[in-house]
Amino acid sequence: MEIKITKTTNPKPLPDESNLGFGSIFTDHMFIMEHNDDGWHDARIVPYGPISLDPAASVFHYGGEIFEGLKAYRGADGKVRLFRPDENGKRMVNSAIRMGMPEFPADMFVEAVETLVKVDERWVPSKKGNTLYVRPFLIAVDPNLTLHGIHEELFLIILSPSGSYFADGLVAVKGTFETEDVRAVRGGTGFTKCGGNYGAANRAIMRSEAAGYPALIWLDGVERKYIEEVGGMNVMFKIDGKVYTPMLNGSILPGITRKSMIQVMQDWGVEVIEKRISVDELKEAAKEGRVEEVWGVGTAAVISPIASLKFGDEEYVFNGGKVGDFSKKLYDTLTGLQWGEIEDPYGWVVTL
Ligand SMILES: *Cc1c(COP(=O)(O)O)cnc(C)c1O
Repeated sequence: MEIKITKTTNPKPLPDESNLGFGSIFTDHMFIMEHNDDGWHDARIVPYGPISLDPAASVFHYGGEIFEGLKAYRGADGKVRLFRPDENGKRMVNSAIRMGMPEFPADMFVEAVETLVKVDERWVPSKKGNTLYVRPFLIAVDPNLTLHGIHEELFLIILSPSGSYFADGLVAVKGTFETEDVRAVRGGTGFTKCGGNYGAANRAIMRSEAAGYPALIWLDGVERKYIEEVGGMNVMFKIDGKVYTPMLNGSILPGITRKSMIQVMQDWGVEVIEKRISVDELKEAAKEGRVEEVWGVGTAAVISPIASLKFGDEEYVFNGGKVGDFSKKLYDTLTGLQWGEIEDPYGWVVTL
């Protein structure tokens, strides 16, 4: 792919690394490419800035939007690494197919991410824990209100230097279950990374955060009995020495962190069981004191430990409300691979 690079004449100063936050500072450049009936064309890297769209562009009306999220990590050796970017590219293809959106090819996705990160390499933070968050997204921009398919699209990538979720070490948070709203149903778009899923989730997440329960567990949209995800992450439970996670069923997002952790745990000899997990069986196990650790998994936080879960009027605390040794070991292993501190036996890490 030919990528035309126009560098900014006005590079911004780098931010203070001790106070980056998440997703609110952007780098000097962005990637953009256009699609019409003749296919993808005009790949370019240009100075970061607003884009102009027709108010009738279909993304504003009919929700044609999918995205990805990955990170660039700078190791102690100064080298910049990506973690399984091909998996993000493939997942975006699957999301596009479900949404009826012309796909952005996975190989071009990886090339575009690598090229943009190299152009803005000075923005990859150097403090361990801080990363350059990479946000690719695809939007439908046909400038009319008809519903005759998506032909015109924009694929963009923006980059944001971001702080660790856990700058002061892992922290476990309180969790509960959402019994009114659902984020996705089988046959819907739960397995895609589409903005619409987040639109459906907003209200419940805001309510539960305000109530003091930042970890909100989503239930299946049909029977409201089975556990799906926690917030915008996949969820795992260590019960009686084994690890349980909801099986992928079409309404759950197939996380790359989830998939990678399953592999790592199996290589440790831990039994990992992917199955339908009901709230009732989890509650039973919690009541009997058999639930050892609970945690969410995703690229942003890597691991987000859950201290306790509230089932209606009953609340159960896991591991004394503290971060468990097992989730900590998983966190250290994944981040060790990502920062190039642990040798990668899997071929997951791409050094730029
Ligand atoms: C992105 C995402 C995840 C985690 O996926 P990773 O590939 O591990 O980052 C889980 N659930 C939802 C709803 C997501 O959007």
